[in-house]
Amino acid sequence: MTTRATARGAQRTSLDGERADVIVCGASFAGLAVARELARSAGGAADVLVLDRYAIGERATSACAIPTPWMAAMGVQDAARQELPGMSFTTPRGGRVRYRLPWSWTAFDYPELCRLLWAQCGSARFETAVVTGRTGDTVHTDRGDVSAPLLVDAAGWRRVLGDPHVQPPEATLSRGLEVHPHDAGGTDLDVWLDRDLIRRGYGWSVPAAGERRVGTLSYNPHDHVKEPTRALARDLGVETVRYQGNWFPHALREATIDGAFCVGDSAGHCFPLSGEGIRTAFYFGIACGRELAAVLDGRQDRDAALRRYAAFHEDHRPAFRRAARLQRLIPALPPPVLALALRAIGAQPLVDRAFGWYLRQAHPAAAAAAPKLSARRASPGPHPL
Ligand SMILES: Cc1cc2nc3c(=O)[nH]c(=O)nc-3n(C[C@H](O)[C@H](O)[C@H](O)COP(=O)(O)OP(=O)(O)OC[C@H]3O[C@@H](n4cnc5c(N)ncnc54)[C@H](O)[C@@H]3O)c2cc1C
Repeated sequence: MTTRATARGAQRTSLDGERADVIVCGASFAGLAVARELARSAGGAADVLVLDRYAIGERATSACAIPTPWMAAMGVQDAARQELPGMSFTTPRGGRVRYRLPWSWTAFDYPELCRLLWAQCGSARFETAVVTGRTGDTVHTDRGDVSAPLLVDAAGWRRVLGDPHVQPPEATLSRGLEVHPHDAGGTDLDVWLDRDLIRRGYGWSVPAAGERRVGTLSYNPHDHVKEPTRALARDLGVETVRYQGNWFPHALREATIDGAFCVGDSAGHCFPLSGEGIRTAFYFGIACGRELAAVLDGRQDRDAALRRYAAFHEDHRPAFRRAARLQRLIPALPPPVLALALRAIGAQPLVDRAFGWYLRQAHPAAAAAAPKLSARRASPGPHPL
């Protein structure tokens, strides 16, 4: 893929009447993970059409940090900007506690990561188009109607392929905003837990080799994040430039909607508490891609794929609930208790245990190549993850 601006003017030819085997709406983390997995598991034979309102990699709305093992798992190590071996937590009266993690974070470059993912998507086609709705197997876009028997909603929190549309702030959404100053500061992923900064949420600084991503998120969608982000940037002495922000879910939704597959933020796959939604978008995107590949290979029908994908999604509900409970509990703790708790779990075996559990909820081993099952198999068998 060459990086190009979003198609405009004469480039915006009509797509009306186009058909494909699979249409993926959204070409960010979730959508590209689905298309990549289809290229791998369906043997490159599938006709996959990927749509996004922007060109691939054009618009990031994320601090773009993921557990390092996921970089290798997705074959995108070349997009890495900086590896972050530890995390620090700063509380108002507890000072700063630093954890050495059993795995590291990596801050990456969004356009480059998208380019590397797209390069693995085989013969998939991409068009810039705004999805405006859907009727059955037909997706309505600002460039005309396109159809496919298999539809994927990977368009983020809005969920474009079905009702109910999600409407902030009256929804289970968090909101986040960050600035991207040029600044070489830091070696760790730093977190601030301070009610005076942000009532229910946290602030962060993610160094990314010459750039820093400094922001705040609020679990309460009614609370604004602009002033807290500016305040944190001021405290850190960095410029408040290059803003980017978005809403993101903090509760699982349905995995499927009217026969379409929902992946990533569209299905609520962003993990509560941390607001980490990139690796989970990869993880569930891979699972979805494998189910779709099994349909295209004739190993199962669409209804079976929908059922199996939904069951896989539901298997993760207990972990999401647990994280959601912590999301409610932590901001409610009196600051001295929070500081004590952070120190108490700072013992290395406890850090290893807690962060080991956290990584296992969407483990990079899931990305390992799925065996391409024989099309002659009558039953799809256990889930490939
Ligand atoms: C400030 C901030 C910082 C964050 N930092 C991190 C982080 O460091 N690590 C982490 O793991 N998570 C982070 N998150 C969360 C993470 O960004 C999301 O969970 C993740 O982007 C979800 O990926 P996705 O592919 O499901 O959706 P998105 O990344 O939102 O992608 C949706 C895609 O669909 C397209 N689209 C939307 N509507 C339409 C339409 N109508 N027609 C066509 N295309 C459409 C969009 O253009 C976009 O490309 C952060 C979030 C915010 C707001």
